[in-house]
Amino acid sequence: MIPYETVDRILDTAQIADVVGDFVTLKKRGANYTACCPFHNEKTPSFYVSPSKGIYKCFGCGKSGTAVGFVMEHESLSYVEALKYLAKKYHIEVVEKEETAEEIAQKQRNESLLLVSEYAGKFFKDSLQTPEGQAIGYQYFKSRGLEDETIRKYGLGWAPTDRRALSEAARAAGYKEEFLTETGLCIRYDDGRLVDRFFDRVIFPIHSVSGRVIAFGGRTLKTDKTVAKYVNSPSTEIYDKSRSLYGIYFAKNEMSRQDKCILVEGYLDVLSMHQLGITNVVASSGTSLTVDQIRLIRKFTSNVTIIYDGDSAGIKAALRGIGLVLKEGLNVKIVLLPEGQDPDDFAKKHTLEEVREHIAANEQDFISFKTELLLGEAGNDPLKKANLINDVADTIALIPDAIIRAVYVRSCAGRFEIDEQILADRVNSSRTAMIIADKEQQDRERERAARMAQGTVPPPEMVGLEDIPPPPMPEDLVDVPPVVDMMPVQDGMFMNEPSLAPCEKEILGFILEEGCSVLEFDRDSKFYIEGETVNVAEFIDGILADDEADFMNEPYRRVYDEYFRMYDEGLSQQQIQNRLLNSMDNVVAAVAKDLLIEKYQITVKNYEQSMTATSTRLVQYVPKALMTYQCRKVELILQGLMSELASETDEERQMSLLAKISDYNRARTRLNNELGRV
Ligand SMILES: [Zn+2]
Repeated sequence: MIPYETVDRILDTAQIADVVGDFVTLKKRGANYTACCPFHNEKTPSFYVSPSKGIYKCFGCGKSGTAVGFVMEHESLSYVEALKYLAKKYHIEVVEKEETAEEIAQKQRNESLLLVSEYAGKFFKDSLQTPEGQAIGYQYFKSRGLEDETIRKYGLGWAPTDRRALSEAARAAGYKEEFLTETGLCIRYDDGRLVDRFFDRVIFPIHSVSGRVIAFGGRTLKTDKTVAKYVNSPSTEIYDKSRSLYGIYFAKNEMSRQDKCILVEGYLDVLSMHQLGITNVVASSGTSLTVDQIRLIRKFTSNVTIIYDGDSAGIKAALRGIGLVLKEGLNVKIVLLPEGQDPDDFAKKHTLEEVREHIAANEQDFISFKTELLLGEAGNDPLKKANLINDVADTIALIPDAIIRAVYVRSCAGRFEIDEQILADRVNSSRTAMIIADKEQQDRERERAARMAQGTVPPPEMVGLEDIPPPPMPEDLVDVPPVVDMMPVQDGMFMNEPSLAPCEKEILGFILEEGCSVLEFDRDSKFYIEGETVNVAEFIDGILADDEADFMNEPYRRVYDEYFRMYDEGLSQQQIQNRLLNSMDNVVAAVAKDLLIEKYQITVKNYEQSMTATSTRLVQYVPKALMTYQCRKVELILQGLMSELASETDEERQMSLLAKISDYNRARTRLNNELGRV
């Protein structure tokens, strides 16, 4: 659908650090960047971005890939979606042919659902401009103090009173009913009627981190108590409430710039604060925070300030789920607003300066907030007070950082007027119990995962990155069992025999990494030819062609063929690498990633080793890799012949087999001798 030239342009333009930097705060370290990995929970950075190689790699969880791969992984997008995202980011025009409703249905499911959501978002937005939308919805937004710019930016809209308005418009525009119901936008009743979920309500679209509309919240303006105040999209394939935060797309850059996230409760709180100029603000939309939401915040900052109404419901909401936040290592502060005011009211009644001052002056760390609150409730009741101390101790125990825990123990002991050691002991025992409980939980989960994995070996075409283990370091090549090994196995004959996979992999690695580098053989090398230069790719291809040898492992052969196809077209080494890494053929992409990116791992880890001049290494290791490969191949043939001999009863054929075996034995000895000299 996207023309090849456009794909190439996108791949050549996208800068990995720039792309990753939109989601993760990167710190420069030498030529690379590091960050805490967005794909797993960590406190010290093991996530690397290499601008020169155009790749990212996490040494913690092993995730790695190119800019396109990162966007796919991080945003759960398809390849094409990720390309479009990058095209948009770099203002590259993607001219696709006009799509019919039929073609839309052919697209990836997620994309279909996203497109329907996008359409609905536009529909609600346009409906706000109709006489009904203006009179009711727009009036409401205005009455809440929202400016046109805010309404436009957040895509606020109106769902018409007619309960079939959206479904009819969407179907007329070619959207399939299937996707309308699966996004939760429409409901098919048993009696056959298709109706809209959202009607007669103002609409707040919910955006993903990358800014796509994934769900909606609708608020009624009726005072009728039988009408639910809020109606929200259900969980769908593109929307998981527990993983989304309202406003994250508009707040993420400021969150990482200010290294702080302000958390409020509702849509209007976000909008008013944002409009006032406090733009690092998101909402958890009424529910208490989930672990996934916390991790989403932590991609941008580890400081969270929660602003809640001063009434008791607001305080209770603030207390709920906070344990999780502490446990994830976030620094939590609480700001209470004057009684009876929510952030929306407060933002409207004050200037930016006043709101900032109020936050700065009233920010209280969570532990002392809780202590004060509970102390007030306990009064002078000694039993209540003892319970409260235990409660606070349990809360402190959740904090992962030992020093921060110690600081809290000291200040709380002072506040409670008890011995510091007693409180410290209580915190420690609570923490031990918690760690044991967590470990048991993890064990149970791991066990369940292991049971599920048993007996489910993915078919070869399913081989993905996760299925390919880190490649061997050159020196311990021999000990690593091949994984992408598609060698034909006959009745278990070759089951325990040496395989060609590691050798083929090593050779392919040289081609992918250094294919266009010139091999500068010494004059006394047997490969030296007066007045001729040869590069790595041509040298290897020449030798393999002499042997009439094709790689035996299908994935490696595919990458090999693909490389030389592009090489013959005159593409540069870097262009070929880029195309392979981003190949639509999953197997090709997985192998290329494995080779190119894991090589990078070796380079980073063995920094000094990589200082050896590349040309010296190549002249030495490329012929060695080829000879090792030939050697293995001969060994394999020998083993085949031996087992044939073992089951052969005909004397004449036994003799001919023995002759062959002795030929191959000589070849093996010769190769081994040569190898010894290299
Ligand atoms: Zn990771």
